[in-house]
Amino acid sequence: MGVVYKINCSDCNICYIGQTMRYLEKRINEHKSDVRKDASCQLVVSKHRICNDHEFDWLNTVVLHQESHRRKREITEMYFIKTHSNTINIQGDTDDFPVVYESVLNRI
Ligand SMILES: [Zn+2]
Repeated sequence: MGVVYKINCSDCNICYIGQTMRYLEKRINEHKSDVRKDASCQLVVSKHRICNDHEFDWLNTVVLHQESHRRKREITEMYFIKTHSNTINIQGDTDDFPVVYESVLNRI
């Protein structure tokens, strides 16, 4: 099964939205270990933690959507990134968002 998920920062009001085809727990462990791996902070989550000395609320990760189809899951992830103004996701994450859905978003 695959999920689109959201992790909130415990120290400010931002959140991170991601998607994975694997079990959510495993992906979260990867986020955690990434901090120890590389100080150049490649991932936005690690960067936010290191640069701001903030911690994410891992235990309360929110599952926004369940979708096993990869492409559908990616589009759903982009949809949630676009509809949450407080995400730390880089804008490039949504470059692939189908233009046809833009008009749908504007009506929400
Ligand atoms: Zn924060």
